[in-house]
Amino acid sequence: MKFYQSTRSAAEQATAAEAIFRGIAPDGGLYTPTDFSNRQILLDEFLNLSAAQIAELTLARLLDGFSGAELSAIVREGYAKKFETDDLTPVKDVGNAHVLELFRGPTCAFKDVALSLLPLLVTKARDKLGVKDEIVILTATSGDTGKAALQGFCDVPGTRIVVFYPEDGVSDVQKAQMVTQPGENVRVCAVKGNFDDAQTGVKQIFADDLKNRWAAKRGVCLSSANSINLGRLAPQVFYYYKAYADLVRRGAIRAGDPVNFVVPTGNFGDILAGEFARRMGLPVGRLICASNANNVLTDFIRTGVYDRRRPFHKTASPSMDILVSSNLERYLFLASGGDVQGVADCMRRLNEEGVYAAPEAVMQTMRPTFWAGYAADAAVYETIARVWREHGYLMDPHTAVAWNVMEQFRAETNDTAATVVLSTASPYKFSADVLRALGLPAQADGFAAMDALQAATGVPAPERLASLRTMPVRHRDCVEKAEMPVYVQRAVGV
Ligand SMILES: *Cc1c(COP(=O)(O)O)cnc(C)c1O
Repeated sequence: MKFYQSTRSAAEQATAAEAIFRGIAPDGGLYTPTDFSNRQILLDEFLNLSAAQIAELTLARLLDGFSGAELSAIVREGYAKKFETDDLTPVKDVGNAHVLELFRGPTCAFKDVALSLLPLLVTKARDKLGVKDEIVILTATSGDTGKAALQGFCDVPGTRIVVFYPEDGVSDVQKAQMVTQPGENVRVCAVKGNFDDAQTGVKQIFADDLKNRWAAKRGVCLSSANSINLGRLAPQVFYYYKAYADLVRRGAIRAGDPVNFVVPTGNFGDILAGEFARRMGLPVGRLICASNANNVLTDFIRTGVYDRRRPFHKTASPSMDILVSSNLERYLFLASGGDVQGVADCMRRLNEEGVYAAPEAVMQTMRPTFWAGYAADAAVYETIARVWREHGYLMDPHTAVAWNVMEQFRAETNDTAATVVLSTASPYKFSADVLRALGLPAQADGFAAMDALQAATGVPAPERLASLRTMPVRHRDCVEKAEMPVYVQRAVGV
């Protein structure tokens, strides 16, 4: 049985393994579960489990065709000893809210939760499909994805990974994270240009390979670590359950009470995982979508019109600087009850005209659960400083966007349900901005900023970031955008 379907045509069905291996459906749609009735998790089933057990359980419900033993091995190998704590994603009480820390993994950003498992899921999917080709992951990154993917795929047998980053488009610490990456199967290369140049370059390589099939001729298949892959979405469902169990255990709620989640999102991936959890039976109150100045999702949730024709802002929360939220397509599919024609039509309009209006039925489904707001940089800096002053909790700019939007939500709705704010990065990944928010003097580079922030706050910088400054640089490649295809072909030995 095939339980996944493309968002753009009912004929494109897939098993979970096929969906993970292919990444995107041949018609350009995204593989999505058609039915959640056989994916329910009861309260009794997860409230007393460990973090790793909850991860296994949520994956087992989502990935039909993967056995419990397989998933258990994948979770163990992917997470064990790689996160700071066996608790994986701790919850901290801050003021009258709860902060879910998703940045305790190897690269100090929430993408570790999914990218620690993706390589194991992709290689297991390949084995299930009987494919023998080596998998070569190509990724363009604006910062966080690249390092998390490198770390995840480093020395995984049967895989190689090539990461392109914009030469001047990532922070000092993000660059140091990537250029010091060890591993026999990894390549890291700067591109002369911005993130869009790197991203378009990668897309052209995929398109060219689709046409000319040069990779397959060499026994290689190209794949991406992009967040539209089901293998990145499914592992994110876990921490909604984990946070809920934590609140019950500490007596903050009773089993069955609704909990709100505030999610700093750009691509709509993280918050969509929350919607999956809700459809799987987790008592979710509201899902609060938090954006920065690139507030295309705020406008969409409030008006039903998605309009990307607007200026692009570079903000202090760069991982959410996105105007095309790819994973919203999956929500349109779910909320319209599988109206593939409607979804395909919206996506065509978005592509051709830059704007679409969602069917009213979608918005009617969306409104009772979703709420949306945004915070621009000035509000973000003010929030970081205030939360530090009032609660002694140091947060990064992405988390501060969410905290600020939570305050707006409470002020407007008087909602009193327990609320979890998802924290997606360590403040030390963005030390310069956090220093600035606290009104402290600017420093010469990212590492000096890290020292100054630690000296001023006493919050310890993660060892994995602090130690980067003494690690040897292993990757110095830098190419023009036009040279990217040749670089990839050399890297894979074509
Ligand atoms: C990627 C990222 C986000 C946004 O995630 P979505 O997949 O767009 O929901 C938020 N914060 C940080 C730090 C990130 O790296």
